[in-house]
Amino acid sequence: MAINSFLAEASAYANGESVGSGVDDFDESALRPATGSMDLDRIRRAVREILLAVGEDPDREGLRETPDRVARMYAEVFQGLHQDPRFHLKKLFTQKYDEMVLIRDIRFVSFCEHHLLPVVGRAHVAYIPNGRVVGLSKIPRVLDVLSKRPQMQERLTEELAELLMRELDAKGVAVVIEGTHSCMTIRGVNKSDSSFVTSAMRGTFKDKLATRTEVMSLISGSRG
Ligand SMILES: [Zn+2]
Repeated sequence: MAINSFLAEASAYANGESVGSGVDDFDESALRPATGSMDLDRIRRAVREILLAVGEDPDREGLRETPDRVARMYAEVFQGLHQDPRFHLKKLFTQKYDEMVLIRDIRFVSFCEHHLLPVVGRAHVAYIPNGRVVGLSKIPRVLDVLSKRPQMQERLTEELAELLMRELDAKGVAVVIEGTHSCMTIRGVNKSDSSFVTSAMRGTFKDKLATRTEVMSLISGSRG
């Protein structure tokens, strides 16, 4: 995607109604770990059932280990359901720095909740501290917890922005996520590798056009 269309799309998103429920109506319960447990045996049985349902023979040699492999893979890719993303934001450092902190190109893999297929992408996260900063390795870890759940990219973007805004007590947070959705790229006639861009702006990034423009141009600077 060209830089200009990327910028236009992302800032249209930031200005629009589609993203940006305010802090008040954010459902924080979505961030808590799941109450149910990871039942590998149940996944194995379900995968065997799917194989039977599509007309396969789950007992043939090539498929014999598949239910177990898929169960272990699901346990891994959905482990974020059983983790609390706030855990990584507990340790903050007092710091006078009050300019923008930006981390670009954080790779992630998530699974779309509509098809349980991978979404592969990059996140760009900026915040303006309010006297406290977090270790830079923590933000990718928070993203990792949130993305290792059945997700929608829009919600992932909002959850990350909201979480950082609250836990860091930041003056502003900007999150831009670009994702390529396998459910789009492997099916139908539109087998393209087009990416889907979502953004969530909070605080200063939402209120000040100049700050938002600055972060968007810094992010697009990574695209050479
Ligand atoms: Zn999907």
